[in-house]
Amino acid sequence: MTPLRLHNTMSGQIEEFVPLEPGHVRMYTCGPTVHDYSHIGNFRTFLFEDLLRRVLRQQGYQVTQVMNLTDVEDRIIKKAAERGQTIDEFTEQYIDAFFQDLDTLRIERAEHYPRATRHIFEMVSLIERLTENGHTYVADGSTYYRISSFPRYGALAHLDVSGLKAGARVDVDEYGKDDPRDFALWKARKAGEQSWETPLGPGRPGWHIECSAMSMQYLGETLDIHAGGVDLIFPHHEDEIAQSEGATGKPFVRYWLHAQHLQDATGEKMSKRLRNFSTVRDLLAEGYTPRAIRYALLTGAHYRSPLAFSPELLRAADSAVKRLDEFAVRLGGVTVDAEPPAEIRQRWDDALRDDLNLPAAVGFLFEFVKTFNTRLESGQATPEERAGAMAMLRHANRILDVIEFPEALDSEVEKLIAERQAARDRRDFAAADEIRQRLLAMGIQLDDTKDGTRWKRLR
Ligand code: AMP
Ligand code: ZN
Repeated sequence: MTPLRLHNTMSGQIEEFVPLEPGHVRMYTCGPTVHDYSHIGNFRTFLFEDLLRRVLRQQGYQVTQVMNLTDVEDRIIKKAAERGQTIDEFTEQYIDAFFQDLDTLRIERAEHYPRATRHIFEMVSLIERLTENGHTYVADGSTYYRISSFPRYGALAHLDVSGLKAGARVDVDEYGKDDPRDFALWKARKAGEQSWETPLGPGRPGWHIECSAMSMQYLGETLDIHAGGVDLIFPHHEDEIAQSEGATGKPFVRYWLHAQHLQDATGEKMSKRLRNFSTVRDLLAEGYTPRAIRYALLTGAHYRSPLAFSPELLRAADSAVKRLDEFAVRLGGVTVDAEPPAEIRQRWDDALRDDLNLPAAVGFLFEFVKTFNTRLESGQATPEERAGAMAMLRHANRILDVIEFPEALDSEVEKLIAERQAARDRRDFAAADEIRQRLLAMGIQLDDTKDGTRWKRLR
């Protein structure tokens, strides 16, 4: 079997993937900052991680994935204070919304979703270890990481830190790439801000320390995979390495994976700050289906290429998904069990094992669909071949998770017919007729006979 190969940001190379413990992958994915709804740029990254997780599982690995929820951070503290709410009161609505959006997009759940505010103690202990190892100093009640004490600083982002200004420090969570500075591990309390009483003094954690503390707590001191969007490479992931390795002296992560950004139509990164974003909710309100959104973000480009978001992208996704649905319907009524044809399955699997090249895999799938449709039209396909094609579609859908197979459609139709019957029983003929029209729009024609309602698919 071709091995799984993944691009590692640390080496800049595509490497064969081998987990530390045979058969088990431990992976940490940076999660949302719950100060607002996540936008579809964020979900592009979360869908890339869903793809990674599904491919790993299909390779036979057990996956333990941790995704943190950043629920204490500059913007959260500010917004909660403005509304007179505690952090928990303020973040609750966005945490709920995040999980709803995950379900809408059929993103598989991680094993753990730890929240920063629930791990203050672990963060404080980690900072104490860093202090014992000589990596910290205190200024104005805050504790900082002295990056000059960690010679490998800059290795992930491939930064030249030779011109480093010793002692120059920064309190905000995000800062410029060309200016690496000592960052806050623990921030002294400010008036009006929620804070914690700890041996480090009253205050709250900086952003970066949560990921080191929670990843190592749930996954051990060396992780197989750490993933996120490219904007996290510096400073966030660079700082995570300095914190984790500075405390343990062990390698923190074996494979660093980063997804490129979703951009707006002009090529700008989609972001809250630029106000050029859409949420999943916005797109649903505009009438796009969850399946089209998932398909567009997942297959629109390879994860290491930027993807420009546009209505055309969503429309193309919508019609691609419909073509796959139609293919499933055409194959319908498969009665024999079968394996996917070896050649197409191999091409599909190999593309995914080649650094998760889903766009290539999807290209092969559509070639197959096209060729097979020709065989179906000319009446050449045998029942066994049809069953094989159906098996391939199901195989692909374990990754894509967008196809509606006929039996799912059947049960939807049966449900609507029952609803229509109930409407007729209470003599609500307008409602009954509306359901008939809806079914017609789905390509289903009803026929009321003395034995009940029959239905057939219009071709
Ligand atoms: P945040 O909620 O801002 O902490 O981001 C959550 C995840 O979304 C991180 O992995 C970011 O790297 C990622 N992200 C942020 N903006 C974009 C974007 N425009 N395209 C793709 N991923 C993004
Ligand atoms: Zn993180």
